Amino acid sequence: MSKILIIGAGGVGTVVAHKVAQNPEVFTDIILASRTQSKCDAIAEAIGTRYGNKKIRTARVDADQVPDLVRLFNEYKPELVINVALPYQDLTIMDACLEAGVNYLDTANYEPKDEAKFEYKWQWAYQDKFKKAGLTAILGCGFDPGASGVFTAYAAKHHFSEMHYLDIVDCNAGDHGKAFATNFNPEINIREVTQKGKYWENGRWVTTEPHEIHQSLHYPHIGPRESYVIYHEELESLVKNFPTLKRARFWMTFGQEYLTHLRVIQNIGMARIDPILYNGVEIVPIQFLKAVLPDPGELGENYTGQTSIGCRIKGLDPSGKPLSYYIYNNCSHEAAYKETGAQGVSYTTGVPAMIGAMMFMKGLWKKPGVFNVEEFDPDPFMEQMNKQGLPWHEIFNENLEV
Ligand code: NDP
Repeated sequence: MSKILIIGAGGVGTVVAHKVAQNPEVFTDIILASRTQSKCDAIAEAIGTRYGNKKIRTARVDADQVPDLVRLFNEYKPELVINVALPYQDLTIMDACLEAGVNYLDTANYEPKDEAKFEYKWQWAYQDKFKKAGLTAILGCGFDPGASGVFTAYAAKHHFSEMHYLDIVDCNAGDHGKAFATNFNPEINIREVTQKGKYWENGRWVTTEPHEIHQSLHYPHIGPRESYVIYHEELESLVKNFPTLKRARFWMTFGQEYLTHLRVIQNIGMARIDPILYNGVEIVPIQFLKAVLPDPGELGENYTGQTSIGCRIKGLDPSGKPLSYYIYNNCSHEAAYKETGAQGVSYTTGVPAMIGAMMFMKGLWKKPGVFNVEEFDPDPFMEQMNKQGLPWHEIFNENLEV
């Protein structure tokens, strides 16, 4: 018996639930819990129909409340919790894991609600507590962070004696047909892309204005797309775990239409994260905006095109010769929707989360403490990516453009 508890029933939670249900030899007992239980019930019903009456139990939980989580953990006694709620809940879920003796995995690092600032320091501070309790915490196991760190670890293990330049490139060349929508939780997404840019160079962080550095990059089977340097959380752990890196950056593509909407949203104050008084009621503008924007979980139906996410790395090969290396996955929004009912961004996040959980359940990624994905053996994870719907490809010694 291996019992798993998924928290969060959004786009990513939908994909994780489908993928664990597709691997019954690893996950024998599945519980899906979230703030709104009806969403869990709908996912469980769809999965039951699709995979021959596979039974998923559902529950309601407020993951901001440690006692509520502990009650749930004690009732179901899972071996591992997959946290695909929001980054705000990371610490309460980790606290409850320690109290109830449950292992932990997530896809995004902790962010305080009142400050758009994500850093690993809060979760890394749990290292000793998890170690002492003999529990494993796997941090950032989506695609980026997640597969991006595993790709980097795989490159370091198999192709480089020293890595010098890392550029993570994230392209969404999909079209959902809406004037403006975000591909995952709008509040988290808008907080992420409107902040200042930041990258690592020569042993220090360099800060830029938002979207200040940009250039056109070519993506496989997609073509050129304007790409912008933004700060992304995996840079923090990757430069720590691969200290030979002289520079590490993260690029994301944005269309002009998207950027124009974003600018307007910011200019009119709708991206504010501090509460304002409206008709005597306190509301947070960005949370109100989320309520009126399209639900990312429902973009899938008419989504066409694909995503392409990968790592472009330069350094020295094992014989000391210069090497340029590009490893990437392309994912079709239509294929993701056909398989799980969710679009490609949820799919590329949910599949690695399931694979990370599988690595834990098989005892391959299991050691007491708090770890980022690149600290584990990348090989079994990479093997599963090819089997579970996210095949990857390598290109050697071509122009990396960066
Ligand atoms: P959604 O907003 O679609 O879903 C979030 C889910 O969490 C909802 O079901 C929501 O419940 C639930 N939730 C929120 N607060 C609580 C709470 N206090 N207690 C219990 N449940 C709660 O988000 P996504 O599915 O798009 O994203 C999920 C996570 O994945 C996010 O943390 C995001 O940052 C991360 N992510 C990571 C990526 C990666 O590559 N590493 C890429 C994309 C996303 P309700 O339905 O009631 O609102």
